Amino acid sequence: MYSIEEVDKDSFFVEASAVNTYLYCPRRCYYEYVQNEFESNIHTILGDQVHENVDELGVEDRRGKTIYKAVKLFSQKYGVVVKVDTVEEYDGEIYPVEYKKGKSKVWKNDKYQMALQVMLLEEKINKPINKGYIYYVGSKERVEIKITSKIREEILHTIENIKKLYSTMKIPQGVDNQKCKQCSIINICLPDERKILSNKFIIK
Ligand code: SF4
Repeated sequence: MYSIEEVDKDSFFVEASAVNTYLYCPRRCYYEYVQNEFESNIHTILGDQVHENVDELGVEDRRGKTIYKAVKLFSQKYGVVVKVDTVEEYDGEIYPVEYKKGKSKVWKNDKYQMALQVMLLEEKINKPINKGYIYYVGSKERVEIKITSKIREEILHTIENIKKLYSTMKIPQGVDNQKCKQCSIINICLPDERKILSNKFIIK
């Protein structure tokens, strides 16, 4: 019932995962979504494995809950497409549930990706939703994420920034911090090498 649909092929849509990546590092977002330079590392492989169970479209009834799997949503209003791991309908409420690897530590980028899913789902059903859940497979914990107006505003701002990446094709500064060690495209971005060169030749 909530799955889709035909996206208007002439319109440009930002993927919700790009919002997550931009909040991790704008430079990574540029490489992956503008230049299509995806690489794998242990973190991306584990993330893919976590999503295998919720990657196929389907509907299940579990203890009174209706669970829709692999729900695709798009918003003409925000210019965004998203694949939601699951949408649950229970006791008169409806909300998305995102699956993440590891233990229950809520990172800002994951929280905001969840909020974007909420925004698209509420647009789809034309009803306000103020929460979603992240399920951490490593610790088997489910964390409720409250969606505030501040988060919504920041997400819209991030979407605009991503659209600018596509239109200007200008590579942004990277975070160049401890996140680089976990980043799957460190061998493309070369933060350490850039740092050495920038000290010598003022290269950014
Ligand atoms: S290596 Fe660091 S600066 Fe480069 S894309 Fe990854 S996180 Fe960003």
